[in-house]
Amino acid sequence: MSAYVGKYADELITNAAYIGTPGKGILAADESTGTIGKRLSSINVENIESNRQALRELLFCTPGALKNHISGVILFEETLYQSTVSGKPFVDVLKEAGALPGIKVDKGVVELAGTCGETTTQGLDDLGKRCKKYYEAGARFAKWRSVLKITANEPSQLSINENANGLARYAIICQENGLVPIVEPEILVDGPHDIDRCADVTERVLAACYKALNDHHVLLEGSLLKPNMVTPGSDAAKVAPKVVAEYTVRTLQRTVPPAVPAVVFLSGGQSEEEATLNLNAMNQLKGKKPWSLSFSFGRALQASTLKTWGGKVENKEKAQTAFYARCKANSEATLGTYKGDAIKGAGVDESLHVKDYKY
Ligand code: 13P
Repeated sequence: MSAYVGKYADELITNAAYIGTPGKGILAADESTGTIGKRLSSINVENIESNRQALRELLFCTPGALKNHISGVILFEETLYQSTVSGKPFVDVLKEAGALPGIKVDKGVVELAGTCGETTTQGLDDLGKRCKKYYEAGARFAKWRSVLKITANEPSQLSINENANGLARYAIICQENGLVPIVEPEILVDGPHDIDRCADVTERVLAACYKALNDHHVLLEGSLLKPNMVTPGSDAAKVAPKVVAEYTVRTLQRTVPPAVPAVVFLSGGQSEEEATLNLNAMNQLKGKKPWSLSFSFGRALQASTLKTWGGKVENKEKAQTAFYARCKANSEATLGTYKGDAIKGAGVDESLHVKDYKY
């Protein structure tokens, strides 16, 4: 057998293609309880379930945002089972808006012994059982985040191999249970390296991932890739969106098979506007691009909304206006038609970089 041909094959292909519909992308709202706590504390809001629910309700119920611009929303387990204050399950809110519910299924990272702080991602042991349960609850795709870093001697071959294998094992378990796997080998932006070094490392990492996905019989047509964009490190000078676009698309051309329907980038600490402009530049670029190029942003879709909201009911509408503006701008960026004219909400140009980012 080469690729997965089980009972979910057609459904996986349909759902992966749907998520990659040009003009739409993914809202990553799957921050773990710890990570959302940091976001909430930045606006002096307590990290309790009702506040986490309120933020997610604000996002999911922004008039028109999901319906017009979002094809999938990644949820944390708690959120998958939550409802609006008036009692409508979030899963139904998403489905009515045409956004597939997704679920973060990894359990975070632990250090790889014998390395200098490199990591592997946990959560494989009971993954099949959990995927089955999440499918029954309405989830149709999943996310698993592996993390690699760039230094003079890293990523090590051990970390590349271990993370590629973990992603491939996760991906096939998801497919056996009806969930489209988002394969996310995030190479952190931390460091003083230049864009050439980021391109080299991203190429090696993606090549290893697609070798492992093939070895594990993953059905590429029913999967998505969520990579970092190819950029200089956070301590190096920035380059223009056109340069990021050329390097990133070249890296993908060299490593990502055309069978993959869509590449949905993480924002990785870029400012909201920067992430949008870089994605837009990729979609303006001429050349071979057999996959759709879209977004699966967390910070770059939510940061100005969060600031505008500040946890206050009276700011909800303004915050939703800010959220709508980022969804629309990124939707245009997937078509290469963004003019840089989005309403500028609070801090859209501010870097959202967090050193050694944990999700
Ligand atoms: P950022 O867009 O904030 O980098 O996060 C997206 C994500 O889902 C990381 O796993």
